Amino acid sequence: MAQKINTLLILFGDQLDKNYAAIKNIDPKRDAIWMAETDHEISYIPTHKIKITFFLSAMRHFRDELKEEGFHLYYHQLTRRKSNDKGRDFPEILKKDLNQIRPEKVWMIQPGDYRVMEQVSQIIKNANLSLKIWQDDHFFNTVQQFNHFIGSKKNYLLERFYRKLRKEYQVLMSLNDQPEGGNWNYDKQNRESFKNEPAAIKSPRAFQPDDTTLAVIDLVNQRYAHHPGRLDHFDLPVTHSQAMALVRDFVKHRLSHFGKYQDAMWTDQPFLYHSRLSCLLNVKLISPRYVVSRIEEAYYQNSLPLNSVEGFIRQVLGWREYMRGIYWNEMPQYSQKNHLNAREDVPEFFWHGKTRMNCVHHTMKSIIQYSYAHHIQRLMVMGLFGLLWGIDPYKFHQWHMAMYADAVDWVSLPNTLGMSQFADGGLVGTKPYAATGKYINRMSNYCQGCIYNPQKAVGEEACPITSLYWDFLQRNQKKLSQVGRMNLQLKNVERKNEKEWHAIKERVQFLRKNKDQL
Ligand code: FAD
Ligand code: SF4
Repeated sequence: MAQKINTLLILFGDQLDKNYAAIKNIDPKRDAIWMAETDHEISYIPTHKIKITFFLSAMRHFRDELKEEGFHLYYHQLTRRKSNDKGRDFPEILKKDLNQIRPEKVWMIQPGDYRVMEQVSQIIKNANLSLKIWQDDHFFNTVQQFNHFIGSKKNYLLERFYRKLRKEYQVLMSLNDQPEGGNWNYDKQNRESFKNEPAAIKSPRAFQPDDTTLAVIDLVNQRYAHHPGRLDHFDLPVTHSQAMALVRDFVKHRLSHFGKYQDAMWTDQPFLYHSRLSCLLNVKLISPRYVVSRIEEAYYQNSLPLNSVEGFIRQVLGWREYMRGIYWNEMPQYSQKNHLNAREDVPEFFWHGKTRMNCVHHTMKSIIQYSYAHHIQRLMVMGLFGLLWGIDPYKFHQWHMAMYADAVDWVSLPNTLGMSQFADGGLVGTKPYAATGKYINRMSNYCQGCIYNPQKAVGEEACPITSLYWDFLQRNQKKLSQVGRMNLQLKNVERKNEKEWHAIKERVQFLRKNKDQL
């Protein structure tokens, strides 16, 4: 395209949806789309090989589809050689290109990362170009609608927000504007564990890598060989049509039991009845409206259990939208929050999974193999350990960004820093998710194969999570006493005598000294 570009749309790697209003308003004859794969995004923390492959392959497939439809694209593709890169990071490449292209105006869709939005806006300003930022219309709610809903309230409450969206979008509502089945929430029916090994569960459908994906795998193995993770069985969807196939696969094979076993864990069963849709939703290969409508349709057509259908819809329509609202409402200060003043580094075994703690070992096995762990493994194994150990919440978030295929700033930050590490002092959750190993024992079979004993807080056999739990409560007693819902747990702190505390402290000191041998 030799003539002058009218509008240049900057499209990020997590904006792969052709239904964006911004894309629909691009005129292929006069406008162009700009996309870039950058080394910095991948290596500023060593990103998991599956996450890199997933993002790059999905971006390249999306680029090819846009090209086929006649769009004009500027696309920076990483090659096996670093010396071929046009620049190290996004700002550097963008600045060079804006100087060369000199479009009449620039558009972007609100990115999923506050820092990126600030950076790009500044670059456009410095280049003396006009910038229009489009709403990210992938979501049900706009950031402004969420802010309006929250108003001046100090605490966010998911339940009110979730009900509002159910009504507004008429999701699982009966005719007289009442929730389907009479209740808004079936959370109490979502907490069962398996008494015995679960009967054969159909794993999420696997998608064979095509030539585009194989080229990315080759690139990743060449340039990022030292990064965590494995690529020998990469099987994620990388196109919109594959993403839709995974939704159908979930509805057919796993949705009906999703609700009941949502919180359960089992060795070598990484997905159980979960959907594995988060990474597809987050790069926008599939829209939440589509997912919610397919799940709702399955309920009415196939009479699936309401606790499963409502439980799933609550995650996508409720939690996902709510977390995004909190992110944009609270940034940029949010990322600095550290209510419990936690300062520890992420332990080494969070990268390689070599630990005798069977729960952590098995969760890490899934993370290394699939760049995935399900919600309870994130919250009540890795997150619980991080909270009790006192990992710096932002470092925990960065580790999370590196290791999970679905991690994007807007969703990882409130989940890690807020829900999991209580660093926001109770904005997202009403209390810290602190528990002993007994919780893990109740919800999984991990403890059966572990050298530690979840019942014990002291002695050689003591479960590190149980010992650290008591130490955590005692260490943070003053701050936690401000949290009403912690009263019961704190009463048990008072019940322990000096001798017991001495033994716990001794055990915790030993654990911290020997952190590489846990
Ligand atoms: P399913 O169990 O099948 O759930 C269905 C969908 O609901 C998910 O695909 C997801 O889109 C949505 N969902 C459920 N819970 C949440 C939530 N708390 N926030 C946002 N969406 C939710 N989810 C991410 O998408 N990206 C993250 O970076 C992320 N970080 C997390 C960090 C921690 C410490 C915790 C506790 C949770 C995090 N979550 C994150 C939420 C949740 O754990 C994942 O969405 C889920 O495990 C993904 O697997 P799935 O697609 O099989 O989900
Ligand atoms: Fe995890 Fe403790 Fe159970 Fe071992 S005993 S699996 S460390 S909870």
